Amino acid sequence: MAAITMRNVVKQYGDGFPAVNDINLDIADGEFVILVGPSGCGKSTLLRMIVGLEDITSGDLFIGDTRVNEKAPRDRNLAMVFQNYALYPHLTVFENIAFPLRLQKLDDAEIERRVHGAAELLELVEHLGRKPANLSGGQRQRVAMGRAIVRQAQAFLFDEPLSNLDAKLRGQMRTEIARLQKRLGITTVYVTHDQVEAMTLGDRVAVLRKGILQQVASPRELYREP
Ligand code: ADP
Ligand code: ADP
Repeated sequence: MAAITMRNVVKQYGDGFPAVNDINLDIADGEFVILVGPSGCGKSTLLRMIVGLEDITSGDLFIGDTRVNEKAPRDRNLAMVFQNYALYPHLTVFENIAFPLRLQKLDDAEIERRVHGAAELLELVEHLGRKPANLSGGQRQRVAMGRAIVRQAQAFLFDEPLSNLDAKLRGQMRTEIARLQKRLGITTVYVTHDQVEAMTLGDRVAVLRKGILQQVASPRELYREP
């Protein structure tokens, strides 16, 4: 069974050309899929439909074997990691990671247990008392992923998480994300318009053009020399 399944998924804003047009895609459990294509091709729209921030005009979206078209974001158990990481500057790393668990009103012992588990996995234990301003870009990224891990989300969704960084940091973060994704084994959908990220990060690359899924292949197949 696929982790995420899209069947004839369409998004139509107003009465223009569909932003996303008849997408069929199965994403396997633990798979890392890159969604690539030029600006305006529908990448964000597709990601936002998966996470539930945008309604689907027609077609079906499944997470596991559950159809989630009408489910609220909170009931989809997915974790979106944004470009700016959306960390709370006034909270410590511990409280930033614990935040979704506080909302769920888990007891302190369980929160402590989960946050420490995630911090160990992400090598953040010695930074738990710090504020985001005192962290490197890579550490902030890991805190954002920690917040997703403690929620025991079924998948990570990244929307161009590296596009605001300089080239050097972007390279480091690319390596870091690839390493963590393999270690965690969590299903990941990653939107980018960066060819290098598309070539190096994922198990498969899905190429979008004007809302249409043009090609889905491994980076090796897609980018091999002619
Ligand atoms: P990408 O993420 O690949 O840049 P988007 O998903 O943001 O592409 O946009 C796909 C198309 O849908 C574009 O033509 C864009 O102008 C249009 N679009 C995106 N969001 C909206 C919206 N809220 N209302 C109307 N049109 C939108
Ligand atoms: P509410 O709608 O309850 O006031 P939010 O809109 O902040 O609160 O979040 C509601 C639920 O949506 C959260 O419990 C969470 O499951 C989900 N959610 C919020 N942000 C994200 C995100 N970045 N990625 C995935 N799911 C999210």
